[in-house]
Amino acid sequence: MSLTIFHGGTVAAPPGKGNARATALAVRNGVITAVGEDALALLGEADETVDLAGGYLSPSFADGHAHPLYGGLEDLGPQIRSCRSVEEIAASVREWADAHPDADWIIGASYDATIAPGGMFDAEWLDAAVADRPVMLRAWDYHTVWVNTAALKAAGIDRDTPEPALGRIVRRPDGSPLGTLLEPGAIDLVAKVAPGFTLQQHVDALAAATERYAAAGVTWVQDAWVELDDLPAYEAAAAGGRLAARLNLAFRADPAGWQHQPEAFDAARGRVRVLDSPLLTANTVKFFIDGIIESHTACMLAPYADAPGESGLPNWEREDLHNALAAFDALGFQLHLHAIGDGAVRMALDGLEEVRRRNGARDRRPVIAHLQVIDPADIPRFAELGVVANFEPLWACSDDIMQLLTIPRLGSPRAELQYPIATLAAAGVTISFGSDWPVTGHHPVPGLATAVTRQTPDHLPEGGWLPNERVDVETALTAYTAGVAHQAFAEKSWGRLLPGMSADMVLLAEDPAEIPAERIAGVEVLGTWLAGRPTFQHETVH
Ligand SMILES: [Zn+2]
Repeated sequence: MSLTIFHGGTVAAPPGKGNARATALAVRNGVITAVGEDALALLGEADETVDLAGGYLSPSFADGHAHPLYGGLEDLGPQIRSCRSVEEIAASVREWADAHPDADWIIGASYDATIAPGGMFDAEWLDAAVADRPVMLRAWDYHTVWVNTAALKAAGIDRDTPEPALGRIVRRPDGSPLGTLLEPGAIDLVAKVAPGFTLQQHVDALAAATERYAAAGVTWVQDAWVELDDLPAYEAAAAGGRLAARLNLAFRADPAGWQHQPEAFDAARGRVRVLDSPLLTANTVKFFIDGIIESHTACMLAPYADAPGESGLPNWEREDLHNALAAFDALGFQLHLHAIGDGAVRMALDGLEEVRRRNGARDRRPVIAHLQVIDPADIPRFAELGVVANFEPLWACSDDIMQLLTIPRLGSPRAELQYPIATLAAAGVTISFGSDWPVTGHHPVPGLATAVTRQTPDHLPEGGWLPNERVDVETALTAYTAGVAHQAFAEKSWGRLLPGMSADMVLLAEDPAEIPAERIAGVEVLGTWLAGRPTFQHETVH
């Protein structure tokens, strides 16, 4: 029975106004056994002590929506994430091509779609860097790819290619493809002829991704898009001890052929249960209701301000969606729905209402993720249906994407309805935060700062963007901890520092509630523990 006492700093209070912070915490065999004076009283019998060095011990962070496999795989290709121009991307692609002469394809991610007007990238710009092999680059949103002419040829896309269902091929005036493909229906034309990664590359990517999460204080991640073909990599990573964080998998429901999936997903979930890993579950099914506003594929209740007559691209027929949601729910799967536009949010809520009508009431905790625009009339339905509202707080600021690509599409006053975090919190809805990494950075601390300030990393605008939707530090921290624990049906296991809970904890250098909001983004993670075991320790902590 190993006993560790953490002391010499501040220990987070349980969520709730007026609860006091403590100064010590005791962990026995991975489980919290005492907090405060009760923990200090055990100092004499401790096997080990950890000096918190004046820092703030918090429940560890959890990420309610992310793509760790894709994030980990980005490390394998050309590094284009920080590129600020088409020339820089081309140079990085050429450099990688020169270093990998045997690679048949060049596959990379993720580029900043704001650096070309309207997010429209030309195949010829990539041809100038690499013309002899196909190149496929994903944009930050993961709903868009940019390819060179060799990739278009390999996929057989030309001016005669019909528009795919559930996607768009951006074309030149003469109908030939430009080189930008929108949404899975179009992206898959290229992706299905590109070579896949090996099992070992997938396992290494999951190991690297979860280590990166551990260094950011994260111990649980909702993997929000898993194809059955990818499952062996997760199983191998869990069985081989390569995971540094807990993962819950969401299998993607396919609007073009979901009917055979309930049985297959049930079998896959069974395989994961047999593995009996404390770090891997597969309890969730993911639905993409729509796309994104920036490429006019988010489903809006009214037409786009800059594209009259167009109101987006729902991925599901209403009746089909209801049948699919009800079928997965009947098997006990949790439903996790991507909804960006106000039309998609309404479709999601209507669908969940229909599931309850058909399958009866139960504690199902459906998640609607992203929630960029919500019609005010739909706000009360979240609490009524027990929906977990998952936001990616890093998106809730007025950055270049927002100003150049988003606001012009939405127009006023609709652009002022975005990311109503405080409104939903005030309506009694459980808020969970996530990153959507690699769409945006995986680290929760900058997200925490953005939720509190609604400012860009340069602290703009003064007072915050749509400042009524700012939340206080406690609400934001709860959304990254207990809020995600509720989403994960794990509120009795982790997400709070109370006796009986798993010692899933992060040590922050400072208490974010005790410093000016402008400094929160810089708070360092000094250590991370999962069930009492350190998964990350900063070099300054011993
Ligand atoms: Zn996502």
